[in-house]
Amino acid sequence: MDIPAQVLPWQQDIWQHWQQQKARQRLPHAILLTGIPGVGKRQLALAFAQALLCQQVQSDGQACGHCSQCHLVTHQQHPDLHWIQPEREGGGILIDAMRQLRQEVNQSAQQSGYRLFILAPAEALNTYAANALLKSLEEPGAATLFILISDQSARVLPTIKSRCQHWQVKTPAADMALAWLAKVKNWPPEQAKMALRLASGAPLQAVDCLDTDYQQHRQAFFNALDHLLKGFLAIQAAHTLQTWSLEANLQLYLSWLKDTLVYQMTQETNRLRHLDQVHLIQESAVLLTRLQIFKLYQLGIQLSRQVQNKTNPNKALLLETLWLQSAHLLKAENNQNSLVPGYLFLSH
Ligand SMILES: [Zn+2]
Repeated sequence: MDIPAQVLPWQQDIWQHWQQQKARQRLPHAILLTGIPGVGKRQLALAFAQALLCQQVQSDGQACGHCSQCHLVTHQQHPDLHWIQPEREGGGILIDAMRQLRQEVNQSAQQSGYRLFILAPAEALNTYAANALLKSLEEPGAATLFILISDQSARVLPTIKSRCQHWQVKTPAADMALAWLAKVKNWPPEQAKMALRLASGAPLQAVDCLDTDYQQHRQAFFNALDHLLKGFLAIQAAHTLQTWSLEANLQLYLSWLKDTLVYQMTQETNRLRHLDQVHLIQESAVLLTRLQIFKLYQLGIQLSRQVQNKTNPNKALLLETLWLQSAHLLKAENNQNSLVPGYLFLSH
């Protein structure tokens, strides 16, 4: 038997609502599923898609995992389940993909059941692609469901949003998340707590955070940062971190700055994400002025946008820019702390 995608404990309320809508034949044509990274949005979308295609749905509404339809889904061969994603991680979803989608929407279902289009992440749609998608959302045809997934719903165009029913997968309470982690991973409780903190409370992200590769990368990143703060050559840091994705580097960079700001403003360590790096965070909070933190944060955001908007960004060059510019900004003398209020960058 193929194990179907599972509905996670903190997704049960959404699942129940969808079951009721399905029972009343009131399912919308398009759903926008949001939530922070690592709360299982794709898993939930897949579980629902599979349940709509399954021939022997279980009493809780989940797919059986052994019928012919389930078999096709788990082997990623179901002709009526379409995934639309960027061609490369962190890239955009382009208009060509939407043209192809339009053709698929115009065809009828291959297996005389539901047709499902899961699009992720929705914020990766550029304006042209989003406009092309609107047509499909407006004229979806019978028994068709679009599920758009987004970590950053503020970046999804309002015209797209207004055509979708919005559901948010909430970050679970810590005890629920820890109970789930204890089931799927045999970690000591302290380790699970640390991973959950690093993942901002998102359980699936927490699993990735304790991955050995990620831990090594994180340590290499903080070592490089330590060097940078001490005034060593930034270019070396860029080279040591090149083997990791630019997105992962930028994510660590931005979360380091958030921690630095939080500590600078509150002098409290219990709200820090990188609690095990407390000395480095404290050092950063002493060394950096508020304006420097703000400028460094702006730099990180600017580079993140470049990665998202370019078809084929030169990642090595962008990483080098990150470290060289950071070194430059760190050298600039600034004592204008009062100019930049903290909320300006905590909202990101
Ligand atoms: Zn089935």
